[in-house]
Amino acid sequence: VFIAFEGGEGAGKSTQVKRLQEWLTNEGLVARSTFEPGATPSGAGIRAILLDRAHTAIAPRSEALLYAADRAQHVHDVLRPALDAGEVVITDRFVDSSLAYQGAGRTIPLDDVRMLSRWATGGLEPDLTVLLDLPPETGLARARGRSVADRMESESLEFHQRVRQTFRALAESDPDRYLVLDATSSADELAAAIRVRVAGLLSG
Ligand code: C5P
Repeated sequence: VFIAFEGGEGAGKSTQVKRLQEWLTNEGLVARSTFEPGATPSGAGIRAILLDRAHTAIAPRSEALLYAADRAQHVHDVLRPALDAGEVVITDRFVDSSLAYQGAGRTIPLDDVRMLSRWATGGLEPDLTVLLDLPPETGLARARGRSVADRMESESLEFHQRVRQTFRALAESDPDRYLVLDATSSADELAAAIRVRVAGLLSG
C-alpha cells in the first residue's frame, strides 16, 4: 500500500507522515516513511542543487528534470523494493508536487510534467494521496519560523497560490484517490481523520 502526502509549505506534512507511520507500526504493520526530494544518497545531492540559494538561475525544464531524476532514484532504491516486500509506504511529496510546483508554479504544461513523471516512476501511483490544504499566507508564515532560507524563499505569493490551486484541482479530478483536509485544523484532528481513511483503505 502506497500513501503520498502533498501540500504547500508549512502544511504539517512531515508531522502527519510521522504520526501515521507510528500508528501503523503500533498496529503491527511494517510501515516506512520517506520523502522527496532527497531520500537517497544521490537524491540528497540533487536536493542540495535544487535548494541552494546560489542556484537562482536553474531553468524550469532543468528543475523539472532534476526532480524527475530524484524521483526515479527514489522509486528504484526505496519505493519499489519496499512495496514489493509488502510494506506500507508513506511518502512526504510525490508526483503531484511536481505537477503543482514545476507545472503550475514554473508554468510548464501539466501534461509534459505528467509524462516526465510517468517515465521517472515507471507508472507507480499512490493508492491514496492526503492533501493538507491551507492558504499559502498561513503556511509560509509557519514555514518561515523553522526552515533555513533556501532557493524557494524568493517565490511570490502568486506562485504559491498557483501551487495550492493545482493541488486542489488534482484532488477534485480524482476524489476516490484523495483525502483533502483543512491543514489549519489541529495536528490531533488531522491525524485522527487520516487514520480513519487509512484504516478503510487497509481493510478494503
Ligand atoms: O517538502 P520539503 O520542504 O522538503 O521541500 C523542499 C522545498 O522544495 C520546498 O520549498 C518545496 O516547495 C520545494 N519543492 C518544489 N518542487 C517539488 C517538491 C518540492 O519546488 N516537486
